[in-house]
Amino acid sequence: MLSTLRLPGEAWDELGDIEIGAADTARDDVEVLIVANEGVDLELFPSLRLIANYGVGYDRLDVDACRARGIDVSNTPGVLDAATADLALALMLAARRRLVEGDDLVRAGRWGTSWSGGPFLGREVSGVRLGIVGLGRIGSAVARRARGFDMEVVYYRRTRSDDAGYRGLDDLLRESDIVSLHTPLTPETTGLISRERLALLRDGATLVNTARGAVVDEDALVDELVSGRITAGLDVFVHEPHVPEALRGLPNVVLTPHIASATVETRAAMTRIVVDNVLAFVRGEPLVSPVE
Ligand code: NAP
Repeated sequence: MLSTLRLPGEAWDELGDIEIGAADTARDDVEVLIVANEGVDLELFPSLRLIANYGVGYDRLDVDACRARGIDVSNTPGVLDAATADLALALMLAARRRLVEGDDLVRAGRWGTSWSGGPFLGREVSGVRLGIVGLGRIGSAVARRARGFDMEVVYYRRTRSDDAGYRGLDDLLRESDIVSLHTPLTPETTGLISRERLALLRDGATLVNTARGAVVDEDALVDELVSGRITAGLDVFVHEPHVPEALRGLPNVVLTPHIASATVETRAAMTRIVVDNVLAFVRGEPLVSPVE
């Protein structure tokens, strides 16, 4: 058994003395591999039978290739919905109420008595229309929180619906004050929020991405943000940990380092699921949360 990282939380100790190391050298003794959405070169591990992914998103794993080789894949759905939804709300609030700019101003000692930092006008969060792209586990958790802010929630998902809140993607982008992305990264969602679609966003709209960077055309997003037309809160990027240089100096974007599930409680719960999947595999029982 090999894990590319030591996972936090008490459940980890149930796996005993597990080897921690990079999965970058050929090994014929590894049946179980634990990764955190990292790509795995299957050629290196001829004996592999289970990849237990620490995270719900598994877009860097070639699940079809795993299946063809008889390798099971598991992930950690459900336990990170609240933490991820909380961060999406935090990014909406931070971007629209200029939280980071305000903090910078105070810390730099530039908070004068004569509005030297400007009137610091942001945009409302309460009562605005929120467009959720991908109304699955996390998108639904965002919708529940948004109602507490009296937001009107509209949504787009793969499955069309006659529901009053359902919108086609282009209509959702045109009509929403805030757009929050919650689809997995798949071939269908790569570049889903294209340059043309970004142009549909209202002036002053806010785009929040806690899904995956490549769901958005990142170059086009940079151009929109440089123009100052929209604001954004971004937890994910196309080539992490690289963040486009042009974004770093911009006041209208809040940047976090892929931390949506990073709370003590959630990360421990994710470890619990990884361990339960590994133990089920070892006992020859069905996996707790197989990637189907
Ligand atoms: P989920 O329950 O499977 O929900 C995914 C939603 O996306 C569903 O509503 C689905 O539509 C929709 N969707 C899938 N493909 C689509 C397409 N081609 N077009 C439109 N909608 C599509 O997944 P989840 O647990 O909420 O997680 C969502 C993603 O969040 C993960 O895959 C992961 O990449 C990301 N995530 C990021 C972090 C972070 O640290 N930043 C943390 C957790 C998760 P249907 O309902 O119609 O099937």
